[in-house]
Amino acid sequence: MSTPRSDREVAGQGVVILGSTGSIGVTALDVIARHPARFRIAVLTANKQVDVIFEQCRRFRPRLAVMLDASAAATLAGRLRAAGVDTEVRTGIEELEAAAAHQDAPIVITAIVGAAGLRPTLAAVRAGKRVLLANKEPLVMGGRLLIEAARAAGALLLPLDSEHNAIFQCLPADFTAGEAPRGLRRILLTCSGGPFRRTPAERLTHVTPEQACAHPRWVMGRKISVDSATLMNKGLELIEACRLFGVAPGQIEVVIHPQSVIHSMVEYADGSVLAQLGNPDMRIPIAHALCWPERIESGARPIDLLETARLDFAAPDLERFPCLRLAREAAAAGGTVPAILNAANEVAVAAFLERRIAFTDIPRFIARTLDEVAGGPDQTLEQVLADDARARQVTGELIAAVTARKQHGAL
Ligand code: NAD
Ligand code: MG
Repeated sequence: MSTPRSDREVAGQGVVILGSTGSIGVTALDVIARHPARFRIAVLTANKQVDVIFEQCRRFRPRLAVMLDASAAATLAGRLRAAGVDTEVRTGIEELEAAAAHQDAPIVITAIVGAAGLRPTLAAVRAGKRVLLANKEPLVMGGRLLIEAARAAGALLLPLDSEHNAIFQCLPADFTAGEAPRGLRRILLTCSGGPFRRTPAERLTHVTPEQACAHPRWVMGRKISVDSATLMNKGLELIEACRLFGVAPGQIEVVIHPQSVIHSMVEYADGSVLAQLGNPDMRIPIAHALCWPERIESGARPIDLLETARLDFAAPDLERFPCLRLAREAAAAGGTVPAILNAANEVAVAAFLERRIAFTDIPRFIARTLDEVAGGPDQTLEQVLADDARARQVTGELIAAVTARKQHGAL
């Protein structure tokens, strides 16, 4: 027996946005709003930003909104009821996972920040969705699990990270996630260099969270902005590229390219190098992945190469930015070592944003955590989550010990 479809099910493919209130979530809604006949918002989720998600629900009328935070969910439900919006509101991690597998939506955009996105991303993949991956930390932690689950469930993984989307666009059409593309020799992963590209080493100790979050090319959430400043973002992206494209870390070269016009390149066995270019605007990869292999309008300004005038390239400075070296070593070590690196980084970045540690302490605490926590196999979600938890605990303790000593010394 067929189920009757309500009016709002008729128009467009349903889309779930996990983390709709963040930078990627808001940008994805901007692209989707340009194509009302193609897409319809089925589910929006957020941590606790009630004001933003309330306005999104009023405008896009999703069936369901999930807030991780229970009191935020209660506030949102009350406000939606008062405004006559019939979006159902739920809360908790299980509801977030259920939302990621929602039967009314074949497309899921993962725009949560950090390891918190792993379980919902896995749920979307296991449900066989077209999964647009912005949230890179789950791939770093559990890339093997995600790739294997996608294969088993027939899910389509499409990268939104601008570099990985660029690489994907340069690959042969029959490429499958996790399998080395035919004839590929190297990936040239471009990197803007971040806000401290030219800052001398001795001044890096004193940079503030505000300076670290003022990225020269991209406006992003605070965590990824700090990662871009330490170059850990490029390190996480190197691991992400190994997972998605089935290549060894040694096949990936990081190239500083301050104009951020080339979003990455692929070199083939015959010496050909293919690149994807565009203005630095996340609407381009989002529009690409939403409709791939079709092309749709994204709203991004067309590129003006005469205005750009020149493209510069340089090698990264691993002395000033040791995070990139740590990430490369973690990628080579494999197993849960990338998950340990990622967890230590999340804890250290949070401490820096709270002004408890200096910018240059971030790589130090990550390195010490990697020394103390041994990696293991990454075959199950439990193994990955257990090592993630151990690393968080160790980094937290190391930071607490140092900050306590400093306070003590100051008395
Ligand atoms: P953001 O901080 O602006 O937004 C994060 C979103 O996740 C918000 O909606 C927030 O409510 C939600 N969230 C936070 N913690 C959560 C939790 N514990 N459980 C459930 N939801 C939670 O981040 P962003 O800049 O949009 O980045 C999102 C992801 O996309 C990150 O993994 C980032 O590395 C990646 N990414 C971002 C950009 C960019 O331009 N911003 C580019 C490439 C990749
Ligand atoms: Mg990127």
